[in-house]
Amino acid sequence: MAPLTAMDFAAILDDIEHAMAARTDRGRVADYIPELARIDPAQFAIAVSLADGRSFASGNADTPFSIQSVSKVFTLALALGKLGDRLWTRVGREPSGLAFNSILQLEHEKGRPRNPFINSGAIVTTDAILEGATPAETLGAILRFIRTAADDDDIHINEAVARSETETGHGNFALAHYMRAHGNLHHAPELTLGTYFHQCAIDMTARQLARAGRFLINAPDMPRMVSPDRVRRINALMMTCGHYDGSGDFAFRVGLPGKSGVGGGILVIAPGRAAIAVWSPGLNAQGNSLLGTEAVERLARATGWSVFG
Ligand code: GLN
Repeated sequence: MAPLTAMDFAAILDDIEHAMAARTDRGRVADYIPELARIDPAQFAIAVSLADGRSFASGNADTPFSIQSVSKVFTLALALGKLGDRLWTRVGREPSGLAFNSILQLEHEKGRPRNPFINSGAIVTTDAILEGATPAETLGAILRFIRTAADDDDIHINEAVARSETETGHGNFALAHYMRAHGNLHHAPELTLGTYFHQCAIDMTARQLARAGRFLINAPDMPRMVSPDRVRRINALMMTCGHYDGSGDFAFRVGLPGKSGVGGGILVIAPGRAAIAVWSPGLNAQGNSLLGTEAVERLARATGWSVFG
């Protein structure tokens, strides 16, 4: 395929945006976090940030949304930087085949979560970054990492979303307490979850998220934040576990590593080529953005970027 020009990218993204605007079945906005239940499902954004620095976007690409579980990619990178391979003694690297908030496997597997992208695994990952630091320092480090990757300081935590989840996050408290009972949570559940809820409550625009994702394509013009070896492994985990019990379907349809969040955002990586962010707040049955998935499926087809050829 001939290299795509700026005009090609603009046309592809506009086509996708028009197709998505026409859709009436937009999925269901997450309502178990009351602040997220208020988001208008009619919104849609797609942004692409290429390895050579060029960026393209269509739709509501400058509207901030709650990144939620997309934050788990950044905290995994930080935890690997801090602990190296020791992280894997506390969390596995296998897909769970279960819902993102499931507690089922934890009992069988003695409090060691399957992977860093389901809630239990992400809570352990945040607990690992908290070692020797306060929640405020840890959140500072997470924000610093994201702002550096995005080359943009205008990225903040939405306190109302963090509060909303702190008041209603009983399922996550259950996971944290259960892991604490097995010695796999080193801090008080309130401390680790306070940090986790705030990292999930970071607001970003699709444009910012696509830009921040460039640390996973070893973009030559940015500071090296993570070694190429780790980039490869984070991408592998995004492919196998990034969409929970919808990971197989995402790989089948899109063919690229991706990490979703219940705010309706997805960060997708075309290794070595581009970081892509899509946002549409309505979710499918697995809690992944319904139209976001369809949009990146179309993008992967139009660009030929699937890693499977
Ligand atoms: N903060 C959300 C939770 O813990 C994140 C889940 C998600 O985005 N899938 O439930």
